[in-house]
Amino acid sequence: ASVFAGIAQAPEDPILGVTVAFNKDPSPVKVNLGVGAYRTEEGKPLVLNVVRCAEQMLINDPSRYKEYLPITGLAEFNKLSAKLIFGADSPAIQENRVVTVQCLSGTGSLRVGGEFLAKHYHEHTIYIPTPTWGNHPKIFTLAGLTARTYRYYDPATRGLDFNGLVEDLSSAPLGSIVLLHACAHNPTGVDPTVDQWEKIRQLMRSKSLLPFFDSAYQGFASGSLDKDAQPVRMFVADGGELLMAQSYAKNMGLYGERVGALSIVCGSADVAVRVESQLKLVIRPMYSSPPLHGPSVVATILRDSEMFNEWTVELKAMADRIISMRQQLFDALKSRGTPGDWSHIIKQIGMFTFTGLNSEQVAFMRQEYHIYMTSDGISMAGLNMKNLPHLADAIHAAVTK
Ligand code: PMP
Repeated sequence: ASVFAGIAQAPEDPILGVTVAFNKDPSPVKVNLGVGAYRTEEGKPLVLNVVRCAEQMLINDPSRYKEYLPITGLAEFNKLSAKLIFGADSPAIQENRVVTVQCLSGTGSLRVGGEFLAKHYHEHTIYIPTPTWGNHPKIFTLAGLTARTYRYYDPATRGLDFNGLVEDLSSAPLGSIVLLHACAHNPTGVDPTVDQWEKIRQLMRSKSLLPFFDSAYQGFASGSLDKDAQPVRMFVADGGELLMAQSYAKNMGLYGERVGALSIVCGSADVAVRVESQLKLVIRPMYSSPPLHGPSVVATILRDSEMFNEWTVELKAMADRIISMRQQLFDALKSRGTPGDWSHIIKQIGMFTFTGLNSEQVAFMRQEYHIYMTSDGISMAGLNMKNLPHLADAIHAAVTK
């Protein structure tokens, strides 16, 4: 007998569930394109060389203890993280208008930011794009906000539904919060152009919509940290306020270390001081203080110009491999004469691609080709020269069936 006997079995997380199903499949040709983590050409997880070096340095440093960090985390890490996303010359940083707190990767940063807004901001509606990362609506709802959606992806063009986006944000109540993927939109791989970002910025500022940026892929999209941060910096440059959730999971490969940061760009330095004091009250009863190892690794790399440069080279190599997989998949479908326009595969950016396949075709590919993906999206990082022809065969068969 159990006091929990009446508990129902919960469904598998739709994203993590793909890997569960994959692991159960005994087929030797199976391919997992559902994981949101980088894989090498050999299909293996990757620890960056610069990360290994930083860890070695930390281990060999006898002055290091395992004491608790402050509630807000490692101060140097916070400073360097703000600099990384907003730019070294950011006026908001120079004017001490930015408060940054270390959080549990991107997810934890979103959650702390969400709870802060639920407690201290006058408008509790957050607009999230359709589609978006599946965790977004749950994070913000549990934080105490009301999630509503704005149009983002257009299945007809497999690109951005810019008019729909503008219409929906135009009719959002004044002051609403708007979640924006800083770059490499997950799961569509569709980003606004710089011109479109500028129009979004003007519209949002004119309606006092509060931007909440989710930056999980800085440097991972284009291969350049600065280029991927450009939309965010446009919003900081206008002097307005915003929230920023940063993750080092993908761009430093620190997935399991759970290292990220929440920054709030405030209108003035004294507001920033008060905001920080309230962020501590959100964090303290949630987990007291964040972990030490991950931010120490990041700070070691970011503070040293040589290690920083090595990181950018390794980061670009990851981004370039993904970009090359896009081209190869496109070429493979073209050479098979697969009906349809597949140019979106090379136009989209970042880890994920929306293939545009329907659910029947996706089910067929799993059944017949042992290819595992979340709805119609695939993680490009799971592709390599060995499994790519198999995927192209599967798509071709699914489309021509
Ligand atoms: N936002 C987006 C858009 C993501 O894709 C992810 C990771 N899949 C995250 C946030 C959070 O990731 P993490 O908590 O591992 O940093």
